Amino acid sequence: MTPCQLIRHTAARFRSAGIPDPENDSALLLASLCGGEPLSLRLDTDTILEEPLLSRYELLTRQRLERIPLQYILGEAPFCGHLFMVDPRVLIPRPETELLCAWALDILKNYRDPRVLDLCCGSGCIGLSLKAASPEIRVTLSDISANALAVAAENVRRLSLKADLHQGNLLDGLLPGSFDLIVCNPPYIPTADCAALQEEVLFEPRNALDGGADGLDLYRRLIASADGILVPGGALMMELGIHQADSVSALLAASGYMGIQVRKDLNGIERMILAYQSDGGKYDR
Ligand code: GLN
Repeated sequence: MTPCQLIRHTAARFRSAGIPDPENDSALLLASLCGGEPLSLRLDTDTILEEPLLSRYELLTRQRLERIPLQYILGEAPFCGHLFMVDPRVLIPRPETELLCAWALDILKNYRDPRVLDLCCGSGCIGLSLKAASPEIRVTLSDISANALAVAAENVRRLSLKADLHQGNLLDGLLPGSFDLIVCNPPYIPTADCAALQEEVLFEPRNALDGGADGLDLYRRLIASADGILVPGGALMMELGIHQADSVSALLAASGYMGIQVRKDLNGIERMILAYQSDGGKYDR
């Protein structure tokens, strides 16, 4: 069997199982075993694949047929041009979150030696991408889950970056006035919607997804307490779930935040929000 035949055959199995991107997944799984480029493998009608590679590939194929996310099978996910180690201890980084990072970097251009907290850091993809792009940023990665933080620590090592790691329930244990920017992609899916998610998502950590009855629990808690650890005029930037922009804006305004801005993702969904703590007037930068 050649790579081209194997990928086609496997893609057909994936397609009949309802897997969204069958050719891509079958080629990437083979590339993870052979080390080749997925596109060249799809076009390779010469090489003859043999055992034990075929059996190893079949094992990966069966995992994908069980709807285990491709990134968990591969053990890594691309984000902002880096490969992050991921496994079921952490949420898989999503492309729309890259836009949050780009916005954060834009804001941070105005600061000297800024201190940034990546709250609910999971794999650490946000904070570490900021650090990689702008080494003068001092980054703290924080998560309630020791398991997630272990993955973040592994990514600090893999990417040869420096970051402080902190385990805590939201802002517990973080020092007052210690951050210029908090960036956070909180769990924001309403509990009742969690059961109806795409099958792959059910393999991801529930506490990284479930935002309580209306999905807004973490926003409420964070907005009520963030000013305690921000410098005066510090910024709070958060990713948003669908239809949450108005509610989160209202929560921010009610807590005295200023300069509230919302941005859309590439699908036109209001996906992220920025606001400044009122002291210091930095919101009109
Ligand atoms: N910060 C990580 C990400 O954006 C994890 C977020 C989370 O666990 N809710 O992918």
